[in-house]
Amino acid sequence: MEIIEVGPRDGLQNESVIVSTEDKVALIERSIAAGLRRIEATSFVHPGRVPQMADAEAVMAAVPRRADVSYIGLVLNRRGFDRALAAGVDEVNCVVVASETFSQRNQGMSVADSVEVVRGLAGDAKAAGLTLSVTLAASFGCPFEGEVPEANVIELARQVADLGVDEIALADTIGVGVPAQVRRLLAGVAEVAPGVRTRCHFHNTRNTGYANAIAALESGVSALDSSTGGIGGCPFAPAATGNIATEDLVYLLDRSGFATGVDLGQVIATADWLSGVLGERVPALLGRAGAFPA
Ligand code: ZN
Repeated sequence: MEIIEVGPRDGLQNESVIVSTEDKVALIERSIAAGLRRIEATSFVHPGRVPQMADAEAVMAAVPRRADVSYIGLVLNRRGFDRALAAGVDEVNCVVVASETFSQRNQGMSVADSVEVVRGLAGDAKAAGLTLSVTLAASFGCPFEGEVPEANVIELARQVADLGVDEIALADTIGVGVPAQVRRLLAGVAEVAPGVRTRCHFHNTRNTGYANAIAALESGVSALDSSTGGIGGCPFAPAATGNIATEDLVYLLDRSGFATGVDLGQVIATADWLSGVLGERVPALLGRAGAFPA
């Protein structure tokens, strides 16, 4: 089971403490040492919008380069894509929000325009040899509009699949989803986007994140996002809290017989270190309870 470490981007972007470039790189290095091989390293958004990500280029310039490690950069538009390309990311992750209001708040454009952004970048990403993934944000519910019709999410998946993207991620940006919804959405996406890899991104805001992860895995998802320590949120979504935690997810998967290649002890140690960097204890539970058996 592939786990994507999103702590350096989705995890840190909502933290009020501005984390130094050095510590961001250390988080990435520690994640690699723990066995994580796909890492959402940073976001190429306007630094005025997300000050925590203002050092995107500096982070990418300092991370270790290894053939077996893939760095993802989040981009919302052409300018972000050009920056990500110049900074040497391995993958770009575009965002299409599944509700209009949140799309305007998150990236200042309509849903249809954000699909057009992906259309405009898809060829260039392919030509540059970059993996292109699209996250369908707020797929499980919108902080402003409430319920998001599942048919809308599936229709967006069909549209981006037609653009030739490598991977579609369903994101529960505000942590409202439940397993039955996960199963229905993944079944719908599989129908309209056969052959496209799927990935899920869960926040544990209402304590359903890990149940959703298992539902996704049993529905055939290729990859799951998580953040070390369970840090995270979204500056444009009120009351959004952390991603599912990498260590809690690894524990769950390991004990369920799914190989992750991730060293639980090292992730717990990184989360502990991260608590020091952020000046408050991270939300993950494994660091408190410890692994079992010890
Ligand atoms: Zn998120």
